[in-house]
Order: sequence, then C-alpha cells, then structure tokens
Amino acid sequence: MKITKIEVLKVKTARPTWRPVYCRIYTDEGIYGDGEAALAYGRAADAGFAAVKEFASLVIGMDPLKNEVIWDKLYKTTFWGQNGGPVIFAAIGAIDMALWDIKGKYFNVPVHALLGGARRDKLRSYASQLQNGWENNKEDYVFQYTPEDFADAARKAVAEGYDAVKFDFFEKKPDRGAFDTEDRRCFVLPKDLHMMEDRLAAVREAVGPEVDIIAEAHSRMDAPGAIRYAKILEKYDVMFFEEPDTPTPYMTKYIADQVNIPLASGERVYGRWQFVPYFEDRSLQVIQPDLGNCGGFTEVKKICDMAHAYDVAVQAHICASPLSTTAAIHLESVIPNFVIHEHHIVNRITYNMGLTTVDEQPVNGYLAVPNAPGLGNEISEQAYKQADTFAVVE
Ligand code: MG
Repeated sequence: MKITKIEVLKVKTARPTWRPVYCRIYTDEGIYGDGEAALAYGRAADAGFAAVKEFASLVIGMDPLKNEVIWDKLYKTTFWGQNGGPVIFAAIGAIDMALWDIKGKYFNVPVHALLGGARRDKLRSYASQLQNGWENNKEDYVFQYTPEDFADAARKAVAEGYDAVKFDFFEKKPDRGAFDTEDRRCFVLPKDLHMMEDRLAAVREAVGPEVDIIAEAHSRMDAPGAIRYAKILEKYDVMFFEEPDTPTPYMTKYIADQVNIPLASGERVYGRWQFVPYFEDRSLQVIQPDLGNCGGFTEVKKICDMAHAYDVAVQAHICASPLSTTAAIHLESVIPNFVIHEHHIVNRITYNMGLTTVDEQPVNGYLAVPNAPGLGNEISEQAYKQADTFAVVE
C-alpha cells in the first residue's frame, strides 16, 4: 500500500480563535485516514497548517502501515523535527493519527486493538474547564464569576453523573472583569488567593467530599504563588494541580518539593525526550500529553509506557475538535496507567460540534470506547465546507 495524496485543511468556525487543522491521507488501496493537529486554539493554527502541508510532501509514496519509519523520517529529516515544539509535534501528530486510522481500517480493527487491546470499555471522565460554564449546545462559553456561579456549574455536571470536575479558579475577576496579561503574569496577590479559595470552597460545599476536584492554573502563576495556592488546594482535598507555572523540569521539581498535592502537566511538553526529566525527578504524578501536538499514537504510547515505569499516571490532554477526543479514547482505553479522561466544555459548544461524523459525549460521567475500524470517527462534510484554507499534496 502506498500513500498517494494528502489533503490539509484549516476550518473556520464561529469563534475566530477556534480553527481546527486536519489532514486526510489517501492510499492506492482506496483507504483513507484522518488526523488532527491539535492547535485549534491559541495562535498557531496557521503555522500548524503550513507544517502539516510541508511534512505531507515527505511521505507521499511511502507505505502507510510503516508508522514508525514515517515517524522517524519526519523527526530526523526535517531538521526542526528534533526537539521540536508544538507546531512540529502537531504536524507529526496529525499525520501519525491518520496513519493509525488507515492501519485500523486496513486490518478491520479499532485503533485500540492495534495498541494492545482495550482493557476497559468505558472511561471515567471529568467535566473540564467549568469556569466556562457547563451548558449544552451553547454558541460559546458562559463565563462564571462568583463563588455561587462556580458552585452552580459543578452542580450541573454532577447532576449529569460526573464525579469529577475541573476548574481554573483564576480566569475571570468576580466583578465580571477579565484579568489582563499583567495581572496574570506571575505574582499572585493575597486577594487573588482569597478569591480562588472562595470559589473552591463553594464548589466543595456544593459537590460534597466524594466528588473529585481538579485545579487548573494554565501556567499563569509564578512558583512561589503556585506554592501558596497549593497549600489552599491541600485543605480541600483537590485531586491534582495542573500546570502551576511555566512547565520546566527544574521549576516543577521546586514546586513538587514544597507541596503535598499531586502535580499534573504535559500539554506543553513535546516528545519522549522532553518528558524524561519529569520522570527522572519524580515531580509529576500525572502527565497530560496531547496526541494531536505530541507526535500522535506512535509517540504518545511510548511516553505513557515510560511514565508507567515511574508510577506516573496519564490523562491525555484534549482541547480540539471531536476527532482528537476519539483518538484519546483509543489510547486511554489501552494503557494501564490511565487515571481519568478529560471532557472539555468545548465538546458541548456548537461551533465545535458536527466537525466530525461522531461527537462523543459521556453518559453518567463515562465515555464509551468505540469499536469501529480505525478511529471510528472522521472529518465531516461540514468541516470540509467550512475550510478556509485548503491544500492538496500529491
Ligand atoms: Mg490544561
């Protein structure tokens, strides 16, 4: 089998900063596979599109079943592949994800069967980023401000059967203003700590002691501020503390040594080589690699297995189109060190729904593991229609 053609598309949505990037790889046997470069948010979608397009030209004519060979080619012969960052690893990830979709369809099995076999048929999921509300079928996020707002969002998720919720308690001011960059750059003021504690206390009060609360900081604090904040999180029995400060091994270790709460990170760590120091210094208890920006299944499965050797658990990071959600389910159903699945509020926002043929949604807080050949999900006609940037490589 040979790769004959690759389509690359960047999709325009109702939110200007939500721009999923996809590739579809065609073969001479009529099978095609889909992948996503998980850079839909932030400011790198254009770069991601360009990188996928440029890397695609290197794999035309290759055997799509040889994902390891293709992975190494993209890593080693693009010069910028080695020690690359999000754009490079998203480009490799999109192509790799599509190759596994092809492989599953070729052997007529789901991707999880190729990865070693699903050991669970449903995944415990948490409702993620509830500071943006937990509405359904809304046109965009509904920001939460007061402690009572936060408690209400948590109650909505728990009423649907979730027993775990994640909040960033530091995104918006209680008076409905937004923090500007300067406010959130690093130093955490006592009044900010009080604001975060008030919100967290309201959530704990609303959900009771048995529901797990995850605290997300989006790397906005400096380490001393994160340590002071972690002392508060300890009091409320928070499950883990995600991305306290800019992710580096030396600062994560510094924080880990001074707090008594598990730390999680990984959505901004790329490739096996960048994860090694975190394993070696035992600073992380949960890693959060993203299939769509960390090199795809070929790479992330290796990282998860390396983590297992250090008793580090895995929660795949997912904040992209529903294709990335489906991909993560396959991986998380297989690995022994899976801890919990992230179900981001963006999965319930209309501009992100219908971009693929399946919108996975948990039932009673659990996501079912798909069993169709390949990923069991693909780029929809609607997404193709919404593509404002499109390339064909052959
Ligand atoms: Mg995060």
